[in-house]
Amino acid sequence: IGMISGIALGFVFKFLLSLGEDGDLLIPFGFFDFSIRGFFVDGIFHVGGQIFITSLKMLVVPLVFVSLVCGVTSLNDTSKLGRIGGRAVGLYLMTTAIAISLAIIAALIVQPGANFNMTAETTYAAKEAPSLAQVIINMFPSNPFNAFAEGNMLQIIVFAVLFGIAVALAGDAGQRIANLFQDMNEVVMRLVIILMNLAPYGVFCLMVKLFSNLDISAIWGLAKYFGLVLVVLIIHGLGTYPVILKLLTGLNPITFIKKMETTALFAFSTSSSNATIPSTLNTTTKKMGVDNSIASFTVPLGATLNMDGTAIMQGVATVFIAQVFNIDLSITDFLMVILTATLASIGTAGVPGVGMIMLAMVLAQVGLPVEGIALIIGIDRLLDMARTAVNVTGDSMVTVIVGKREGQFDEQVFNADTHKQETE
Ligand code: ASP
Repeated sequence: IGMISGIALGFVFKFLLSLGEDGDLLIPFGFFDFSIRGFFVDGIFHVGGQIFITSLKMLVVPLVFVSLVCGVTSLNDTSKLGRIGGRAVGLYLMTTAIAISLAIIAALIVQPGANFNMTAETTYAAKEAPSLAQVIINMFPSNPFNAFAEGNMLQIIVFAVLFGIAVALAGDAGQRIANLFQDMNEVVMRLVIILMNLAPYGVFCLMVKLFSNLDISAIWGLAKYFGLVLVVLIIHGLGTYPVILKLLTGLNPITFIKKMETTALFAFSTSSSNATIPSTLNTTTKKMGVDNSIASFTVPLGATLNMDGTAIMQGVATVFIAQVFNIDLSITDFLMVILTATLASIGTAGVPGVGMIMLAMVLAQVGLPVEGIALIIGIDRLLDMARTAVNVTGDSMVTVIVGKREGQFDEQVFNADTHKQETE
């Protein structure tokens, strides 16, 4: 309700603003002019939305650290960690490779860039893709407080895992610390629940602001590209995931999709897998029944490593740009695209718009003009929202699979009525 009414009100404001001049409608009010943009769009709704996003981000670092330390210490055998990590990373890479292959095949069939009239101004610079060695070295923090301050998820994960192992090995002192972390986890989770209850209002504000500024006319020119990315996202989210889940766990995929609703909406409205971590953790543990010892590890890992939705956009965009610039790509180029896009997703945080930076790396890798990004960046915001929803669905699915395989999973919770769980 929050989201839909926010979108509707956003369109109302968009209409009102279009009646005025310079993107604002001024209404004479006594001695001064009352500004619709200043008071509503850039005023209360902007402030409300930003406070909501900031509070979510505020929770991410403490939540990931505390719940991961708890998770590691509660594993009675910490040597299992290697296997859990291996399984999760393997599944994350596999789903990403499937996603991008699907996108490339669909784009080769539909040809979104054929007969495209290039009118946009084209300037965009690519950042250099980091080497795999650098990505691995960067996972280790030289200063954990720096990692916390920067919100560097992989470094926080590495530190929390090492810290948790040390706590588990430290005898009585370790036990006392473990108890403290258990208590802190309760408190942080309570904070998450408080924020979840405010979420509909936050989402409402975000949607009003976003849709009152949205330039829909830009989408028409790129309708084929836009539509294709959306269709492949839907196929992957509602097709690939349910099939993989069913094959690997035997669980009911419809139940899974239904339980994803809130978290997917969170991802949709924040465009950030990182900011959605509190909701993803809540859903996978409380509604889907995965034990915290697994979810606290795989969820933040997925928010950073796993971006299937982003990979889909990259696959379609690469083919689109190649077609617009009339460049033929060979099979080797496509394999290169799959490899670079999969690797680029490791070590790039799940924050809004990061997909475009990764796309620049992919294009540079196969020698396509990076300026091509300028063609699609204008309509990327809406696609970012949709692909982030797919990204977090992938994180949750892998979490359920790893939980089930490790026997750290409560099937009764998974099968219980979502609505009841939500009202509780
Ligand atoms: N916003 C996406 C995420 O956080 C990343 C992207 O595709 O830009 O998962």
